[in-house]
Amino acid sequence: PTLRNPEEWCRSFSHFIAQCLIKDFETRPSVTHLLEHPFIKQAHGKEMALGQQLSTLICEQQDLGCKLKTKHERINTRKTLIIETSPDDDLVNLEFLDEETIIKHLSKRYDELQIYTYVGDILIALNPFQTLSIYSPQFSKLYHGVKRADNPPHIFATADAAYQGMVTFCKDQCIIISGESGAGKTESAHLIVQHLTFLGKANNRTLREKILQVNPLVEAFGNACTAINDNSSRFGKYLEMKFTPTGAVMGAKISEYLLEKSRVIKQATGEKNFHIFYYIYAGLYHQEKLKKYRLPDKKPPRYIENQHGKVMQDIVSSKLYKEQFDAIQDCFRIIGFTDEVNSVYRILCAILNTGNIEFTAITSQHQTDKSEVPNVEALENAAALLCIGPEELTEALTSHCVVTRGETIIRTNTVDKATDVRDAMSKALYGRLFSWIVNRINALLQPDMNICVAESGMNVGILDIFGFENFKKNSFEQLCINIANEQIQFYFNQHIFALEQMEYQSEGVDASLVEYEDNRPILDMFLQKPMGLLSLLDEESRFPQATDQTLVDKFEDNLRYKYFWRPKRFELCFGIQHYAGKVLYNVNGFLEKNRDTLPADIVVVLRTSENKLLQQLFSSPLTKTGRCQRLVIKVDTMEMMRHPEETTNMRRQTVASYFRYSLMDLLSKMVVGQPHFVRCIKPNDDRQALRFFKERVMVQLRYTGILETVNIRRQGYSHRILFEEFVNRYYYLAFRAHQMPDSSKENAVAILERAKLENWVLGKTKVFLKYYHVEQLNLLLREL
Ligand code: ATP
Ligand code: MG
Repeated sequence: PTLRNPEEWCRSFSHFIAQCLIKDFETRPSVTHLLEHPFIKQAHGKEMALGQQLSTLICEQQDLGCKLKTKHERINTRKTLIIETSPDDDLVNLEFLDEETIIKHLSKRYDELQIYTYVGDILIALNPFQTLSIYSPQFSKLYHGVKRADNPPHIFATADAAYQGMVTFCKDQCIIISGESGAGKTESAHLIVQHLTFLGKANNRTLREKILQVNPLVEAFGNACTAINDNSSRFGKYLEMKFTPTGAVMGAKISEYLLEKSRVIKQATGEKNFHIFYYIYAGLYHQEKLKKYRLPDKKPPRYIENQHGKVMQDIVSSKLYKEQFDAIQDCFRIIGFTDEVNSVYRILCAILNTGNIEFTAITSQHQTDKSEVPNVEALENAAALLCIGPEELTEALTSHCVVTRGETIIRTNTVDKATDVRDAMSKALYGRLFSWIVNRINALLQPDMNICVAESGMNVGILDIFGFENFKKNSFEQLCINIANEQIQFYFNQHIFALEQMEYQSEGVDASLVEYEDNRPILDMFLQKPMGLLSLLDEESRFPQATDQTLVDKFEDNLRYKYFWRPKRFELCFGIQHYAGKVLYNVNGFLEKNRDTLPADIVVVLRTSENKLLQQLFSSPLTKTGRCQRLVIKVDTMEMMRHPEETTNMRRQTVASYFRYSLMDLLSKMVVGQPHFVRCIKPNDDRQALRFFKERVMVQLRYTGILETVNIRRQGYSHRILFEEFVNRYYYLAFRAHQMPDSSKENAVAILERAKLENWVLGKTKVFLKYYHVEQLNLLLREL
């Protein structure tokens, strides 16, 4: 296929030259020799252009070759890191294999700062908890299109494999990064993006810079400090990097999943709100703009106040927050946001002011359930920042419309109800603002339509979700996070074990089966309809009289699984045996969090805003009918999918059902690509460098099925290619270009024999290859 595309051909040719240079300076082919190669000459009569391009590439690679001569030297004296390969780079190569041996090797490697280890084509990444100097441009070059075994394992090698897979086979790729909270998924995702932007270097430097700003920007809004991780992802992120068929980066797209909006209004002890709130408060303080954005300057707003009181100083004296705010402003600018950023800041400050609105009860002879706002200043500030009328906002917070038998009645809100409405408004504002930012980034990083039409693009997707969590107190948020992780583990199992074994059987290939822990029953327990945990939660959420107690009873009555239990000592708790361990959940607030309602009265008032961005955030069509026009809103299904919290007469979407839909959406994106797995492991819970707690690592290796993975990678055939596809891909290895051989089993065998591969197997319709065969074949192709 490469022949049809001279540019792509040229590119892989240059990889080949690079390898010659790296491997052996003496035997590298001369430039003239290469230019005379018939393939180059055949290439659509573009010899001259190609020749020039090629010689530039060769010069670049020669330069690289010289630099790589120092490969075996100690690259960094400070960390005394040795860039050398070792037999235990891939656990599959170990002669004796049991848990103890694996741990011993990982521990030894960790001591030597070799944080990466392969298990066949899967990468294990141990969190170093310190900055390593192995991610510089030199390293990007080192891991560019070379044989994997030539260098020690590295996250760049995984990115490179995905990139090469995409370019060579014109197939979308997907890198799935998993591991518990704080294990290093987000850092790994950054490094992959860094390396992919290096590999896909187009002439477009601006685009590269833009793509590199995406993660910091989105994470400022979606990450927060938790008890486990100071930069914990509180949303799931699937970043697709889009490339031209020749491998030049041309755009990017993010899909976000399930932002933990409840963090805006409340954080557990020792935890913080989303980073951006601290950045903006400290940033505006230092720019002396607190007044302009109507923020209090004596005491920070309640939503970002920490529980111990010594707050103001903490926030404003933090150099880091201020610097981060400057960095975020740069991100917005580089990515291409315009003065809309000002509206973003206004909405953020409005949320902070909203959190300061208080309510007190008005008790009169006739009415006891009425509330009012004693501190009008916060309310007026919020209204001014949102460009809405303060009276309308007060009315929407302290009362609500009900329609009974066609008649509309206005009812007052109690203090508790008004507080809930206020917090629901803050959550909705933040959630929609976050989605808007993501959509806007996607629009700004959309591939150039001219390129898109001319060449259909391909992509590498990178999945970085919130990791498995088990706190002292776990709530609805942890349940959703852990179910998502269960789903990712299931996907891993499917790919590594189940699909592989099913295929052996159907193709009549004899391979000893590897036992593994199938977590499908746990997933069923959560997701099945109508009796899974999420469906039961939805059902209970529909009853206004339901309580935490009725909910947990309902779970107990219906979930007859060995993974579910009800502890005797804790009334409102239930336990789940997840793939990654036992977690005790407290159902307190589950129903409210699941309903996540945003009263229509609030939506209506926000839609009256003169702020264009705010109008957009709440822009579903509004039907004006009769006296109480603030209630009737038309929302179509897709709109509901995006904004599940909105209450309407027509339909109500719960968080659980939206969550289920999001998981399916994520899976549908992932399944189209060829997967690559990165398993992040946390070597200790104290976030200390060079501390390797065997027990802690052992647990993670066990639940991620690493031992079983080693076995199956050793015994199994991770690549299974149809005879037709195989012959099409590799026929150059045994036939001449003009021969066009049949896609038969015999021809596949001829190629395999000619390539001198060992240990392959033939099925009924497919060639079964070990994980290292494909690399060998591709190298042979390049060496042609
Ligand atoms: P969560 O699920 O909570 O989002 P995570 O798996 O994404 O967790 P990270 O935020 O990537 O975890 O990593 C936690 C911390 O570990 C980082 O802030 C960083 O300090 C350190 N860390 C992780 N990977 C590396 C690395 N490759 N080099 C240096 N430090 C690292
Ligand atoms: Mg993360």
